[in-house]
Amino acid sequence: MDHKMSRSPWVIHYDGSSCNGCDIEVLASLTPLFDAERFGVVNTGNPKHADIFLVTGSVNAQNLPVVRQIYNQMLEPKCVVACGICACSGGVFRDAYNVIGGVDRAIPVDVYAPGCAIRPETVIDAIVEACGILDQKEAVMRAGGDPLTVGGAATWDGGVELGEDGFVAPAEAGDAPAAGDAPAGTPAASAAARGAE
Ligand code: SF4
Repeated sequence: MDHKMSRSPWVIHYDGSSCNGCDIEVLASLTPLFDAERFGVVNTGNPKHADIFLVTGSVNAQNLPVVRQIYNQMLEPKCVVACGICACSGGVFRDAYNVIGGVDRAIPVDVYAPGCAIRPETVIDAIVEACGILDQKEAVMRAGGDPLTVGGAATWDGGVELGEDGFVAPAEAGDAPAAGDAPAGTPAASAAARGAE
């Protein structure tokens, strides 16, 4: 570990649509055996208290709004870790009829932590990496900058939008978003919001 951790990271965990294998490993990382607490990691159920969002499983039409709601309730600076290959890309369920994809279809992801299932050591490594990104975001904010220019949000494509029926709306020609319609969680949306103030 070459990053000197400057804070005790508070994490919140949400299971998208995993088989529960990765959930068990995330929880195992918090037990005395693997001891994420040695890095000051605190598990919280309140998004407003959390610095790091640990998401397991893929995203579907039902959990996508929940993932976005938790993310939007977290305060900046914040980081997202996709835990396990399902959360990274959809994994073995990627082509299933009800799977939209990995977590980055819903929100920007800062750290991709693969594995099937993810190992507790990988979870801890990912949290430590996320702490480094948190510090970068905090430094940008202290300088008056936008934390969305750091980490996964800097290159995020905005993910997918659900139609009125709750399913992914098929893309149509000429559907390119207009200026000011940038997806939440992207630097363009942040800049548009500042311009409207
Ligand atoms: S990555 Fe493997 S263990 Fe984790 S949720 Fe997917 S299928 Fe289950």
